Amino acid sequence: MRVLITGGAGFIGSHLAEALLTGGHEVYALDDLSTGSMDNIEHLKANRKFHYTIDSVANEPVLAEQIDRCDVIFHLAAAVGVKLIVEAPVRTIETNVHGTEVVLKHANKKKKLVVIASTSEVYGKSATVPFREDADLVLGPTTKHRWAYACSKAIDEFLALAYWKEKRLPVIILRLFNTVGPRQTGRYGMVIPTFVRQALLGQPITVFGDGSQSRSFTYVGDVVKAMMTLAREPRAVGEVFNIGNGQEITIRALAERIKAITASSSEIVTIPYDRAYEAGFEDMPRRVPDISKIQALVGYEPRVQLDEILATVVSSFQETVGLA
Ligand code: UDP
Repeated sequence: MRVLITGGAGFIGSHLAEALLTGGHEVYALDDLSTGSMDNIEHLKANRKFHYTIDSVANEPVLAEQIDRCDVIFHLAAAVGVKLIVEAPVRTIETNVHGTEVVLKHANKKKKLVVIASTSEVYGKSATVPFREDADLVLGPTTKHRWAYACSKAIDEFLALAYWKEKRLPVIILRLFNTVGPRQTGRYGMVIPTFVRQALLGQPITVFGDGSQSRSFTYVGDVVKAMMTLAREPRAVGEVFNIGNGQEITIRALAERIKAITASSSEIVTIPYDRAYEAGFEDMPRRVPDISKIQALVGYEPRVQLDEILATVVSSFQETVGLA
């Protein structure tokens, strides 16, 4: 297969590129390096089946040419990270909505399969866990910027499903639950790389809120495998899938676990949400995926559990920070 990955120099995109190349596929990565990085794809450059273009999906002639060349498009280019979303709401909304609009428009001309990376954030603050794909989305008011991210991704989902319904463009929507692993940066607020870095450098580990909120973290390798499997499954077309790992942990317990495995002397501090993000910030108390739909269709089972994920992230940080 020839595969286009928008956001191909990002954290998930670069892992997907690597896995596809290992499978013998030809990979075209398109990335504007807004949150992606050349470091993520440095090791792929020598592979003659790997091609990359530094540009935005908003550059339509470039995008159209790349779509023409490929059989499948994985659309991962998006504004990510709660911190970035709160700080740059205009960019978040425009990037997420417009980017998906143009990808779908050009893919539709040649009816190329589009796999769209959405997010568990779309479930919002719903308290009905685990989250099923057909559950209601519970978002906060438009005055709180955090919800702009969920809303922009929900619009992407609506638009993709509309293309499928009205124009028979094959699309698959994937809601990713806190994907983590090597190469993820804490620069945009993600908790595991942030805590690991703080623990290794002996800095305070910053738990936001009271730390009782929980998340279920998914290893990037498990996510990438699920993406590739679904892209080959005709019955996945026109459907929405959760991709996650049901193992749940509170953020306080996560901080304690990271402190323990790194044998860190860091103290664990709590920071109120309005200081961490902005006044009136709303977090979601729990986020747990129901993965029975993807399990039933393709037998997906997350293989890498939290302790192994943390060990992998810690050792990759030790290498990059030079603390090994
Ligand atoms: N968080 C934290 N300290 C940090 C960064 C994040 O306590 O330095 C919390 C954040 O408030 C949230 C959870 O960790 O409750 C997961 O945050 P992340 O940004 O990784 O993903 P989210 O689930 O919010 O999209």
